[in-house]
This record gives sequence, structure tokens and C-alpha cells, in this order.
Amino acid sequence: MNPTPEAIRSGHRRALAKAITLIESTREQDRRLAQSLLAELLPHTGHSIRIGITGVPGVGKSTFIEAFGLHLVALGKRVAVLAVDPSSPIAGGSILGDKTRMEVLSRSNDAFIRPSPAGSALGGVAQKTRETMLLCEASGYDVILVETVGVGQSEHQVAGMVDFFMLLMLPGGGDELQGIKKGILELADALIINKADGESLGLAEQAKQHYQNAMHLLRHSGFWTPQVRTCSALNNERISDVWELINDYYNQAQDNGCLERDRQAQRLEWMHQLIREGLEEKLRANDAIKSLLPRLEKAVADQDVTTYTAAKQILDLI
Ligand code: GDP
Repeated sequence: MNPTPEAIRSGHRRALAKAITLIESTREQDRRLAQSLLAELLPHTGHSIRIGITGVPGVGKSTFIEAFGLHLVALGKRVAVLAVDPSSPIAGGSILGDKTRMEVLSRSNDAFIRPSPAGSALGGVAQKTRETMLLCEASGYDVILVETVGVGQSEHQVAGMVDFFMLLMLPGGGDELQGIKKGILELADALIINKADGESLGLAEQAKQHYQNAMHLLRHSGFWTPQVRTCSALNNERISDVWELINDYYNQAQDNGCLERDRQAQRLEWMHQLIREGLEEKLRANDAIKSLLPRLEKAVADQDVTTYTAAKQILDLI
């Protein structure tokens, strides 16, 4: 099955998978093919709910995605699960590469699970995931889940490509004790306290109270106040609450125009990021700059020239 726009639009999984492989390829020829495919499919994108999920390793992300995904499939939705994991150095060795994760969901005909593309640069991985998301939308998936490990920069990238970003947390201990990096809390549209079962139920309720109070202090612009929920992914409890919450957000955002406005802003930011990255690449490849830069660096280090003047000399070569 060739990855033609028609095949992708009619929902052929093999065609979709092949198209994603083109997107992930580093060969120039494949990149060009992928871009023309995307250009053709662009008018058929944008109809899904884009959801980002993060949380420290062990919080229950894959258990949650399995339960949540199956809940959506039972509601008649088609679900795509993607990942952004810049820490994975080898192809397939990424957070979703492990075959034991989301075992039941991965067998569903209405679910499409794709591990994080390999790639050393976060920008590269995020870029590929954004494009993969568009392909999945064109292929008729109603909900796109983008998972990321909650340990670093990738949360910002994922928050910048989804409509709704949620942070999975553990019942006990504050966010810092759990290893959640500063600033991640502020990205979240919802905190989901997972493992709210058995002996941890009380702790989870306490944590919910605590964060509900703290959330009002934290954020933020726009129409939405971040929400806190508890659930047990393992026991499949209160998973539907999370979906209702997201639906609520989505409907409001659609009605008040924020959904399209935010997506537009995300697209523009993405373009500017690509321009910045491309400019840096061009700078590094420019022969005149390559020869001048070491000399200027030394001059700046030795305070023979001001930093501003040195930077300007480089920029004037463009
Ligand atoms: P991830 O690293 O964030 O993807 O976490 P996993 O989904 O692999 O879960 C880590 C461990 O926590 C596994 O042993 C799960 O069975 C367990 N776990 C996940 N969700 C729950 C839950 O809701 N309650 C309890 N008690 N354990 C859970």
C-alpha cells in the first residue's frame, strides 16, 4: 500500500505507517515526498482533539493511556498514540517501543500506536511528531494522544503542539518531591492524580485539595482554570471523568474561538522555530563565518572586542 493521500484519507494503516516513515527519514528525497504529501493532506487535518500527557516515569502513563484509549474506543472513537522522547538514542528503543506497553489497546483496530521517532535533537523529534499528528488527523483519528516523559524540555514542546495538556501525578508528596520539574505545573490544563486506589485513596484526595487551591494561584490567561482530578488507571476508575473534562474544555474552546486561535499561534511559533533553527544551521555552514568565528570568539573571551560588535560582525556576513 503506497502512502498516497487517498490511501491515508481512507484510513489504511499501512499507508499511514509508511507516510510516517517518510516523515521520519533523514533522506532529502523522502523529506520532499513527505512535505508534498502533507501539503495535500493539510485541508483534511485539524478535526481531532489533541491531548498531551506527561508525568514522571512510573506514575502510570502507559497504564493510563491504555485505560483511557480503550474507553475512547468503546465510545466509538479512533485513537492515535504518539510519543516525544528525545532521550531515546536508538530507533525503537523509546518510551513506546516497549511491546508490553498498552498491549490491549495496541490490538484494537481503532487504535494506532507509534513510538517516538529517533533523533538526537529535541527540535527534530518534536517536528516529526507534529507532522505525524497531522497525518493521523487526515487518516481519520478523532483523538491524538501525545505522550512524553516528564523529565525535561520535551514537555514544553508537547504543550506547544496540543490543545489540552495534562500532568499525571502520584498521590503522595509534593510536585518537587515527585521529581516534577519547575514550570511543568504551569503548562498543565489538568492535573490527574493517578493511583487513587487502595490505601492511597485518602492521600490522593488530600493532594487534590492541595492542588486545587494552588492551581488558582498558578494560572493564567484565557478562559480555562486548570482542573484537578483523581483516577485509578489500574482499576479503570474515574477514567471517564478525565474524558468529560477534556470534552468540556474542547467544547468551550471551540465555541469561544480559543481553539483555532491557539492552534494558529502554535503553527506560527513552530514556523519561527524552524526559521531560527535553519538560520543557525546556515550560519554554521557559511565558510566566511566559519573562519571568522574562532577569531572573534577569542577576541570576546580576551575582552579585545565587545560582545555586541563581535555578534554584529558575524550577522553582517549574512
Ligand atoms: P509509566 O512509566 O508512567 O508509563 O508507568 P506505568 O504505566 O508503566 O506504571 C508503573 C507502575 O505503576 C506499574 O507497575 C503499574 O501497574 C502501576 N500503576 C499504574 N497505574 C496505577 C494505578 O492507577 N494504581 C496502582 N495502584 N498502580 C498503578
